[in-house]
Amino acid sequence: MQLLFIIFLGACFPETVEPEPSSVPSTTEATATPVIPVNPPEVNPPNLVIISLDTVSAERLEVYGGAARTPNLNAFAAGGTLFRQAISPFPETALAHWSMLTGALPAVHGDVPAYGDSRYSGPTLAQLLSKAGFNTAAFIGGETLTNRSTGLARGFQLYDDQYPWDRADLKRPGADVAQAATTWIDKQERQQKPYFAFVHFFDAHFPYTPAPPWDTLYDPNYQGTLTGSDADLRPYRDGEKTPTAADIRHIQALYDGELSELDALLGPLLQALDGRNTLVVITADHGESFGHNYWFNHRDALWDEVIRVPLLIRGPGVPANHQVDDQVSLIDVTPTVLKLLNQTIPAPLNGTDKSGLFTSKAASQDIAFAITDPFRKQPQFASRIPTFKRIQKVVNGKATAREQQAYNLSDDPYEMSDGQSVPERLDKAWAAYQAVLQPVIARWQGPKPAKRTPDQSEYDRLKALGYVDEPAKAPTPK
Ligand SMILES: [Zn+2]
Repeated sequence: MQLLFIIFLGACFPETVEPEPSSVPSTTEATATPVIPVNPPEVNPPNLVIISLDTVSAERLEVYGGAARTPNLNAFAAGGTLFRQAISPFPETALAHWSMLTGALPAVHGDVPAYGDSRYSGPTLAQLLSKAGFNTAAFIGGETLTNRSTGLARGFQLYDDQYPWDRADLKRPGADVAQAATTWIDKQERQQKPYFAFVHFFDAHFPYTPAPPWDTLYDPNYQGTLTGSDADLRPYRDGEKTPTAADIRHIQALYDGELSELDALLGPLLQALDGRNTLVVITADHGESFGHNYWFNHRDALWDEVIRVPLLIRGPGVPANHQVDDQVSLIDVTPTVLKLLNQTIPAPLNGTDKSGLFTSKAASQDIAFAITDPFRKQPQFASRIPTFKRIQKVVNGKATAREQQAYNLSDDPYEMSDGQSVPERLDKAWAAYQAVLQPVIARWQGPKPAKRTPDQSEYDRLKALGYVDEPAKAPTPK
């Protein structure tokens, strides 16, 4: 049995994470005088809802200046804070979420997909909040985030990941996810305890098959024959075919249609949360590639289309109608929400509390790191600052400077003009990455979980999602 394990992955920041006091409201950290209205903290501890939109590129969303209309996200952003440069540490589902929900780099988590569990021995966000008295539940929309695939149920009193599976659609319909989550949240509102709900929507993941009217909304006059089905797109994803410009536009239009459809799905859930004492986070695990000769996929790419994700936060202590231009990472989500919930942040972590950016005008010096599965054919490592991206090929477990791409993001946000001069800060990015990685591995990486053999139904689902690398005999979900 050949399994492709994920081991070295991550985005992180070269700074020491210290244990933080839990009694200081986040907004008092800023040195600058707040110039923006901040939603007042409530007397009772707020609840937390994290909504993860699987496979959503920030740049496609209207709320980020993209083509896909997002009226509900626009309204949400008006009531909260939008992070313009939120970076995913890894372009696949399981490990990106492990990082989002722990604050540790994917390399710390180790062989999650192959083993259906994590090497991470530190506390998850759900475990921390459960211990703090929160009721906790997760509502899962896709096979690559089920507990049997990822082991991510730790700390969740309810991990709702069982659902009928449709071969043509490859997901649990978002309406079902939203309904289950809304029902549970409504029930919690009648309880005395605070709650944490994690809600995962798989609707934007391929195949790109939006329902009417979303299917013809953005490219109604397409004359070609390509559809967003798995059967049609697989040869392009596998590199066997190259789409025409009209085909690419059409597939992007279908993807945009899915994003708008997803936005519509979010409406009732967000309205149900309106006016409640609840911190709401909306983000994504990774985006999707429609360019760079890498089509309709995400596993082997680190361009911004794939790793720049939406991140919006609304609730007590969070400025309304505010944008943060500074760069953050998904690994910052857990420490930031812990701070906003007045909880202690475990240490050491790779992510840091970014709530200070709500009011600070000082630019962060952080580098964001991302890496692809090192056991795939051409593993890559990316280091990114707000103005520059360097992507290096990984050879023998180490990033090489001989084969690299370098983009000036200031005037080339879509990374079309390679070969720019690498800034000094990114010269030794691999060494910097190792330096921040190692203390957290030393503290929180446990032994490898026991090997497991997925059953046939799981194997079939993962194979349909492209996570079985033939001729491998077992799935490698990511
Ligand atoms: Zn994903």
